Amino acid sequence: MPSRVPVLSAAAFLLPTLFFLGAGSATPPSASIFGYHDFAAEEAHTDQTFLAVPDAKLAGEELKTLTAEPHIAASPEDYKTAQYVASKFKEAGLETSIVPYKAWLNMPKSVKVEAWDAAGNVLMTGPTPEHVDGKDPFQNDPRVTPAFNGSSPSGDLTAPAVYANYCRPEDFQKLKEMNIDVRGDIVVCRYGGNFRGVKVYIAQQHQAAGVIIYSDPADDGYYRGDMYPHGPYRPATAVQRGSVQYMFKYPGDALTPGIASRPDLPASQRIPLDQVTSLPTIPSEPLSYHDAAPILENLGGPDAPREWQGALPFTYHIGPGTKVHMDLKMNYEYSTIWDVIGTIDGTEFPNEWVVAGNHRDAWVYGAVDPNSGTAAMLEAVHGIGALLKTGWKPKRRIVFCSWDAEEEGLIGSTEWAEDHAAQLSHAVAYFNTDVGVSGPNFDASAVPSLKEFIRNVTKEVPSPKGGTVYDEWKKSQADAAARHRLGVQEHASQEAAVVGNDVRVGDLGSGSDFTPFIQHLGVPSTDIGSGGPYGVYHSVFDNYAWFVMNADPTFVYEQEMARVFGLEVLHMADADVLPYDYVTYGKAISAYLDAAQKKAEADGVTGIDFSQAKAAAEKFTQLAEKVRKTQERAASGSPQQLADLNSQLRDVEEGFLSAPGLPNRPWFKHTIYAPGEYTGYAAVVIPGVNEAIDAKDVSQAQSQMSVLTQAIGHASSTLEAIAK
Ligand SMILES: [Zn+2]
Repeated sequence: MPSRVPVLSAAAFLLPTLFFLGAGSATPPSASIFGYHDFAAEEAHTDQTFLAVPDAKLAGEELKTLTAEPHIAASPEDYKTAQYVASKFKEAGLETSIVPYKAWLNMPKSVKVEAWDAAGNVLMTGPTPEHVDGKDPFQNDPRVTPAFNGSSPSGDLTAPAVYANYCRPEDFQKLKEMNIDVRGDIVVCRYGGNFRGVKVYIAQQHQAAGVIIYSDPADDGYYRGDMYPHGPYRPATAVQRGSVQYMFKYPGDALTPGIASRPDLPASQRIPLDQVTSLPTIPSEPLSYHDAAPILENLGGPDAPREWQGALPFTYHIGPGTKVHMDLKMNYEYSTIWDVIGTIDGTEFPNEWVVAGNHRDAWVYGAVDPNSGTAAMLEAVHGIGALLKTGWKPKRRIVFCSWDAEEEGLIGSTEWAEDHAAQLSHAVAYFNTDVGVSGPNFDASAVPSLKEFIRNVTKEVPSPKGGTVYDEWKKSQADAAARHRLGVQEHASQEAAVVGNDVRVGDLGSGSDFTPFIQHLGVPSTDIGSGGPYGVYHSVFDNYAWFVMNADPTFVYEQEMARVFGLEVLHMADADVLPYDYVTYGKAISAYLDAAQKKAEADGVTGIDFSQAKAAAEKFTQLAEKVRKTQERAASGSPQQLADLNSQLRDVEEGFLSAPGLPNRPWFKHTIYAPGEYTGYAAVVIPGVNEAIDAKDVSQAQSQMSVLTQAIGHASSTLEAIAK
């Protein structure tokens, strides 16, 4: 994960704090907020009523209920959590339904990994059950699924092990330089640096026979700090489960790219398995460092490079020396999953949807990932329910979503988004949270048009530390160490282009449910969370006991997240004029083009003409400046004028979509943002161009440059129509 050095101006401006909830005196709002004709008269009171409702204690109770049992997608316990969330939605007054889809999912029937040294002595037989001494009350539940990789095929193979560091392209390149051939081997990768599915993807391309992915204590364990139950970090036997689906090809049900896998979908509309490109063809298995250590310790051959050394107490070698037997028996079947959808009709713009979601399924208990987000969402819904009881109604349609099977490949959100693609072309925003709370440090990612929006929301929400969430966010960005966390969190926000001197909001990569909205359908999106040392990701120890010990003992950050999440929804649902900031968008695209050009020059990739795309981005920014003035003036327009303007404003983002999609992955339609094919979680900006430069493919880069220039032109022509 890239380190994100904060760029904060010493003269960074401070906007007036609107409210000091819980601090005694609520200051009447004076600041105007972009998007409202008269914020103080129209929205401030609504916000205040809402902000008073989300309750820390209730959030804690909801979290406890949601995480009482392991609830992996498609299990009976998962269905119970769907019913619970549905009951909470209904209680708040939302029109609620449980929406099933049928997806191709694997569950492990049996998982076995053994290793021998060169002389045939047994080194380990595993996987060892996840266990810590004493204290953890959740670890021994028989319903805990053995650690496995979602989307791994079955396989029974014995092969020499070879160590390949993080299994990034440059790591395999290094092995090649060392004359190490991994064909037919079991590649041992450590977590970090990229998405685990990318590790398997690259290993498969190098014709490895299988993959073991383990958590090295250097990145995720005692080297970082005290291990659970003495601290927040990963204990020796804790395994990071996870999907290895090739989500960078397409997420969702592997058999229905672009189509909703409704339960009644005819089999003829599901693609045959041999046409599926999102499933690995080689088996993989995650291991703890307790189990990976003997495999690594007995590897001979050359020393691994210095920077490949982890924190286990021996020198890491590349191999050969250890022989590994993997026997994975997976049960694949069409499984029913359940999204919970709760809606509130809009009064003025009923066709404009404001969608907010969080997944509910967990690899095991999922206290942080994802149910800290679910508890925050339920308290946001609680607050909006209280507003409804006062007679308030939103101008736009609000849709709250509790997604299922996110962990297996963003399945619940993707299938629902594909199901409602036509209506979602009018959706004005998708707000995501996933790892809602793992500590006190607020962070956010967003499309550039919503970066100002999310900052404004956080200026209205009090922080448990005093001041506002915005103030604390700014402070935590000044402390780079606090933010350069584990390098193991897939949901952490990504590196942003440096545009302006304000609090930095990350760019959207992938790894959570915003992907189908922004990257497939062009719905402007944000992703928020509150982070801290989180060393139990995707293990049995991500449970209620760990949470109250380490993340948020009094649930005040749950309350904070509920307020931020709910306020995002309220502001977008009630704004007179959609508060998109296209000036920042234009500047971001210019910055991405400059960076790509520099990279091409540095890599000796010549002959790409950047001038037209750069001119298009500049024109976009100039038009956006005019549109900004129109947005500010128009807030007092007639309802029809506002409706027309808003629908045009919404169309701008859609201009960035290209119908054929990215090369070799047509499901991804957005020309500015996609998950990287070789990074997976990290956002690749202007992906068509940048990935062609990485591949040193000049003609591809040039043709993708034309696609990009055209897309910016489409978006600009909408801005031009507004500016007239
Ligand atoms: Zn998650």
